[in-house]
Amino acid sequence: MTRPLPPHFSESDLTSALNSLRDTLGAARVFTEESELAQYRDPFPVLEADHFSPSAVVLPHTVEEIQEVVRIATSSGLPLSPISTGKNLGFGGAAPRLPGAVIVDLRRMNRILEVSEKFGYALVEPGVTYFDLHQHLQQHGSRLMLDVPDLAWGSIVGNTLERGVGYTPYGDHLSIQCGMEVVLADGDVVRTGMGALPGSNTWQLFKYGYGPQFDPMFTQSNFGIVTKIGIWLMPRPAGYQAYMITLPREEDLGPFVDALRPLRLDGTISHVPTLRSLLLDAAAVAPRSAFHPGPGPIPDSVARRISEDLGIGRWNFYGALYGPDAVRAATWSVIRDALSGIPGAGFHFAGEHPSPVLATRAKIMAGLPNLETYDILQWHDNGGHIDFAPVSPATGEDAMRQYELARDRCLEAGKDYMGNFIVGRREMHHICMLMFDTASPEDRATTLELCRTLIKEAADLGYGEYRVHPALMDDIAATFSYHDGSLMRLSEKIKDALDPAGVLAPGKQGIWPRHLRGSGL
Ligand code: ADP
Repeated sequence: MTRPLPPHFSESDLTSALNSLRDTLGAARVFTEESELAQYRDPFPVLEADHFSPSAVVLPHTVEEIQEVVRIATSSGLPLSPISTGKNLGFGGAAPRLPGAVIVDLRRMNRILEVSEKFGYALVEPGVTYFDLHQHLQQHGSRLMLDVPDLAWGSIVGNTLERGVGYTPYGDHLSIQCGMEVVLADGDVVRTGMGALPGSNTWQLFKYGYGPQFDPMFTQSNFGIVTKIGIWLMPRPAGYQAYMITLPREEDLGPFVDALRPLRLDGTISHVPTLRSLLLDAAAVAPRSAFHPGPGPIPDSVARRISEDLGIGRWNFYGALYGPDAVRAATWSVIRDALSGIPGAGFHFAGEHPSPVLATRAKIMAGLPNLETYDILQWHDNGGHIDFAPVSPATGEDAMRQYELARDRCLEAGKDYMGNFIVGRREMHHICMLMFDTASPEDRATTLELCRTLIKEAADLGYGEYRVHPALMDDIAATFSYHDGSLMRLSEKIKDALDPAGVLAPGKQGIWPRHLRGSGL
């Protein structure tokens, strides 16, 4: 594996910048050996395995050390790439967007600074994982529940900054973030919202503070290094019941989504449910070869048999009821009534159906962290994925159009459609997992090209994505082109003002510093 140098850096420029970092952090917290850097590469590479590699990794322990790191970077022009725990799977993992950037790994900053039972919030550092905070709440007999993403090993800060999702009523992670501390490229430390008032007692209670609100600007961007965030925690409900609704036909997707939308809009379904395709759920049961040993996409006849054998639908909807018995019973009757118009739809409570996916979703919707969703990677040998993740209006017509687009392009590329609609109040995140054999250069190239084609064709239909792998960040940024790219010009103006040396996460989300714009890196 090669260890790339940052652009315009010689080996001796790098050594001298790293020596300054060693003086600040100690040599033991500056990594440059291949054995140490390996864990920071993308576990699911779609280009060469060492393409998105760092030149070094540093591990600060305090905000003051981060201030020193950014000052050294700014004065030497050394590009940095901050991560919290680097578990951003499907979207590059820990890898930097700019080959040769120095990763600033914040995993050692892992204090849970405060939990308020009274107001339902926590204040955490970047290294705190969902497992950590959940365990802390348990150990302290908390009555609060943490919303967790599919895989709970990642950082709360990292997931929130990427605008990740969970599945309880608090599933929109940016919406439950309140208060942030950020180190800027010049070393300044900012507390947002009410946190700017010394002695403030409402930093985690009131998001807006006084004057402009900056928190969202530090998400999916490269304008600062976030060192603390507040998140809201939901009081544990008095009762809970997860359920699955199976839909027998592909075309049930449209009418189901139209019937679902009013239930999300009026809050009858108060949390973030998911609607998953057959093969995505089959992947949790066994590898692809167990269902279909041959090459090429799984034929429809085999899909029908899988559906019958596993007792699940071509689409499977996972939801949950929260609250006391009477509330759950009343809500369930409204939901059943509204969604039973699909002929052959099956209604199943968790515990009454053998589906392993239902068991896993039941845990996740109850805020119980786990890693079970990882099982789907058994689908391929050396299984990995990148995700095509367009946002869809929550209508049946749009859901079908996006599904058919993704399915047909996957089939043409010789791949199975493995999709998942994560249902917001008015829109759905349509996560198409493009699974591939990470050890096969051909499969990697096919997968990347497939994702690129999907991004372009979706944009032609008015659909944009919410998140992407580093290899395609520029592609997606280019589709948000209103008024000849005024959104990107705004980002670039902010980038130039806050980070004139262009050292923080160059190229992230397509935002390049002035000296690297148009360099095609
Ligand atoms: P997780 O482990 O929760 O999946 P990561 O640590 O991989 O999250 O972070 C995802 C992305 O978010 C990173 O690649 C980086 O671009 C950004 N990021 C993470 N933590 C920070 C931070 N503390 N400050 C600024 N950006 C961050």
